[in-house]
Amino acid sequence: MRVILAQPRGFCAGVVRAIEIVERAIDKFGPPVYVRHEIVHNRHVVESLKAKGAQFVEELDEVPAGAVTIFSAHGVSRAVEDDAEGRGLQVIDATCPLVEKVHLEGQRYAARGREVVLIGHAGHPEVIGTIGQIPGTVHLVSKVEDVAKLKIAHPDQLAFVTQTTLSIDDTRQIVDALRARFPGIVGPNTKDICYATQNRQVAVRELAELADAILVIGASNSSNSNRLRELAEERGVPSYLIEGVEALDWSWLSGVETLGITAGASAPERLVQELIDALGKFTDIQVSVLPGREEHTHFRLPAQLA
Ligand code: SF4
Repeated sequence: MRVILAQPRGFCAGVVRAIEIVERAIDKFGPPVYVRHEIVHNRHVVESLKAKGAQFVEELDEVPAGAVTIFSAHGVSRAVEDDAEGRGLQVIDATCPLVEKVHLEGQRYAARGREVVLIGHAGHPEVIGTIGQIPGTVHLVSKVEDVAKLKIAHPDQLAFVTQTTLSIDDTRQIVDALRARFPGIVGPNTKDICYATQNRQVAVRELAELADAILVIGASNSSNSNRLRELAEERGVPSYLIEGVEALDWSWLSGVETLGITAGASAPERLVQELIDALGKFTDIQVSVLPGREEHTHFRLPAQLA
């Protein structure tokens, strides 16, 4: 079986930074450090940080007063920031700078008196955080049909921003629908979708041209991983999202001559290698990597840890 790996795949700069923040905070302040929500959407990452001394909590009332507390890469609302301050927590913010950029955009639009439409998925932590960072009314739109249902007080004073991990194609359709209904709307087109999401989507499209089936390594609650699976599936290639090799159903590989593999932005490369090792024990494999695009993005650590 030919096995082709997408390039790029796996960790993005925001995830690398968030993990490094937790590790450095443990080194500097000693365990435990408290992390609100999964630092990134990956159980393997969370377990390995737990073993090093991170304690994961859902809400800040689980954190002792004054303790070192890390906000996840997805970002948090103003209310959570204020709550942390009220509790005297020593906060280190691992929000990805590209999520923060969307917060700032939304805040700028609101400051100019615009209502803001956020294109994103209801209930995702990034979306909850972004809505809570933008003062005034924020309308959430997840699909094209939602655009017709919007009730806007001043359609000539409207702006949009987007979640960072959406499908480029779906988002473009929603933006087109918004522009058709509200010609005066302003916004970044699909530029809020981060470089890592875009690059991984381009790579999985190339992979779908070559593969009979595609495995996407990533968590079921990882937005960018789900989008990769959907994209491949939309191109007619059977595609499966798995957390790791243990979730592989070997019957999926029946009749597959060329298997494509990619990984979401929060999935460690170790999981890809474990999958390849298992495939190698199952059958003869020839592994190659698509040329793809090299990534050199690197984000600075917060001042407390730099
Ligand atoms: S997927 Fe994009 S926005 Fe999310 S952490 Fe990675 S670089 Fe940042």
